Amino acid sequence: MPTTLINVSNRLPVTVGAEITKSSGGLVAALEGLSPQEYDLKWIGWPGGAIADPAHQVEIDQALREEHGCIPIFLSDEEVAGHYEGFSNSSVWPLLHYMPNYMHYDPAWWEQYRNVNQRFADKVMELAQPDDLVWVHDYQLMLLPAMLHERMPELRIGFFLHTPFPSYETFRCHPRRRELVAGVLGADLVGFHTFGYMRHFRSTVLRLLGLETEITRIRSEDGHVSAMGVFPIGINAQKFEETLDALEFRQRRDEFIQANAGKRIVLSVERMDYTKGILHRLDAIEQFLSGLDESGRDAIKFIFVSVPSREEVEEYKDVREETEARVGRINGQYATLNSSPIRFIHGSVNFTDLCALYATADVGLVTPLIDGMNLVAKEFIACQREHNGVLMLGEFTGAAEELSNALLVNPYDIAAVAEKLTEALAMSDDEKRALNQPMRERVVKYDAQHWARTFIEQLRISEISAPAASESVEVAAGLLAQAVAAGQRIALFLDYDGTLREIEPVPRAAVPTPAIWALLDLLRGRPNLVVTIISGRRREDLETWFGGTPFGLIAEHGATGRPSGHTSWEHWDRGIRYDWKDEIREVLRLYEQSTPGSFVEEKSTSLVWHYRKTDPEFGTWKANQLAHELSTMMANEPVKIRQGRKIVEATSAHISKGAAVRRAIEKTVPDLIVCAGDDQTDESMFEVELTNMITLKVGREPSQAKYRLRDPSAFREFLSNAFQTESAL
Ligand code: UDP
Repeated sequence: MPTTLINVSNRLPVTVGAEITKSSGGLVAALEGLSPQEYDLKWIGWPGGAIADPAHQVEIDQALREEHGCIPIFLSDEEVAGHYEGFSNSSVWPLLHYMPNYMHYDPAWWEQYRNVNQRFADKVMELAQPDDLVWVHDYQLMLLPAMLHERMPELRIGFFLHTPFPSYETFRCHPRRRELVAGVLGADLVGFHTFGYMRHFRSTVLRLLGLETEITRIRSEDGHVSAMGVFPIGINAQKFEETLDALEFRQRRDEFIQANAGKRIVLSVERMDYTKGILHRLDAIEQFLSGLDESGRDAIKFIFVSVPSREEVEEYKDVREETEARVGRINGQYATLNSSPIRFIHGSVNFTDLCALYATADVGLVTPLIDGMNLVAKEFIACQREHNGVLMLGEFTGAAEELSNALLVNPYDIAAVAEKLTEALAMSDDEKRALNQPMRERVVKYDAQHWARTFIEQLRISEISAPAASESVEVAAGLLAQAVAAGQRIALFLDYDGTLREIEPVPRAAVPTPAIWALLDLLRGRPNLVVTIISGRRREDLETWFGGTPFGLIAEHGATGRPSGHTSWEHWDRGIRYDWKDEIREVLRLYEQSTPGSFVEEKSTSLVWHYRKTDPEFGTWKANQLAHELSTMMANEPVKIRQGRKIVEATSAHISKGAAVRRAIEKTVPDLIVCAGDDQTDESMFEVELTNMITLKVGREPSQAKYRLRDPSAFREFLSNAFQTESAL
């Protein structure tokens, strides 16, 4: 049985007119190249235009499904204006391309963006089964992965961003920055063209959502894991190869050669977009022309194919007008009686002509100010079978990473572009061949199909982190409820921060809430139940909050404690050396000074460096450095160095929560012991491993505990259910 692959992109690869025609872009070729025995492909998206008549919609829906495997979502004019032209193209697109000065924002667009993403989610849900793969494309659908994940956590969801991802400093300008990034993290696999884009995404996730990342994995707070990967997209190589073999291509190429006899051709092909660097390029061309005499100018021709794009967006109209004016001016100034230097086509050319142009050009001048990939550069190289042309490529394109044999230029350095153009035109055939051959091999080999295959294969093996099965925790609930009902002696060891109580940015703000008191009141005074709060906090904190209760208290990870029902504290660290603290204190102070927002906390048995309020990347970096430094320094001392939740801690190796639990149950052995905790220090309790012990981890990190609950509120509910059941009996 083939796996169903639901591909979702804003636009379906079709044009709906009197007839429906399917386009043949890279994405179509990539996906249609997948073996039908392995994948059953369905494609969801907007068919373009505004088709409002319901009867017409039904007709088109049917034709698209039956003949093209496409499922349309019909968008109204209002939806297209708000979601596509507004939010996507006027606010997200410019930021993704480092151009905040082109950004506009209207809060009403957000409603449409969400609404359209929701409509896409509804449509996917009509089709999807839990075993299917869903592949979501691009910046118009950044909320969709999370919407789908919420509705069907077992679904494998991939997201690929076809644009750059900018540095956090740029992305943070977006009013909906958090929602956008969180939306993407609903995916199990997030793909980018380059490592640079992935690196920026990681850092943005850390800074906006506080989520630390492993190199290629991000774990969200709900435990869901998004893998990340680099998948540079390729071209429809087969189609290029076939076209270059065709007679029609050879005819057109020969016609171009004839028509341009005696002239060198410099070709630029792109959508009319401000990211493509057209105006900067015209500056460089002007500078180049200014250095030529009349016969030199007669011997060169610049061809611009500028495909109309997003003409409803104001900035695109402006760039078109400005380009046309500049071309007119340059042509006026540098025309000779025989020719004018720039042939500017605001339109598209057919595929054979495009290949013939690529193949006859002496230089492919591709200089976007920034571009996610730039397929034109790869297509130009694919058409260099005879190796006549030189590719001049902007450094700030994704393609520049792969096409390192191109003449790379900084598109902002006008003089350098003009100079390199002279250099390119002077290259010998041998030089061109030596540069182009390896690039051509690469472009033909790593084509669009290869790209799709590798992404989908990676998606198939990505870990599906659906919420931990609630079944297993029900076993624990059952055991506890049974023990309660049977009146057995039960000991609860409850960690405080992150287990009973939600974490706060400032530790002293984490005072017990009414919900915690409600739970503790339920447990208080119950026969055969001994409750102990076990924490890394100082004795004073525990005393302030729980001094008036009959509960046992264990502070500082087990260094000191007050057994249940007692009022005085026992010290379990007598005879333990603490002279190492002086040396460590000095180092921690240095880190405190050099890391704004961090501070040192002194406890009687340990020293802690907190960095929750530092710059998140800098803080993590310094924490790793500190942990390494302290471990080396204390290698021969009885000291444990530990990295916890935004802390680095040095504690005596003889003190642990596990040891404290053992001591507490030594004298009066309970029938059932429950140990619950959320972080690394609690693992020592989970290691105690007695048969009559329930170990419970609160949170999603790896743990030795047998059972798991999502967060403190789920944990409180777990306990109150167990004990309320008993009162109901
Ligand atoms: N292209 C086209 N019609 C034309 C000229 C070019 O469809 O008249 C195609 C070109 O072959 C390439 C695509 O437009 O595949 C442009 O892709 P690129 O990655 O260079 O830029 P994007 O438009 O995605 O920003």
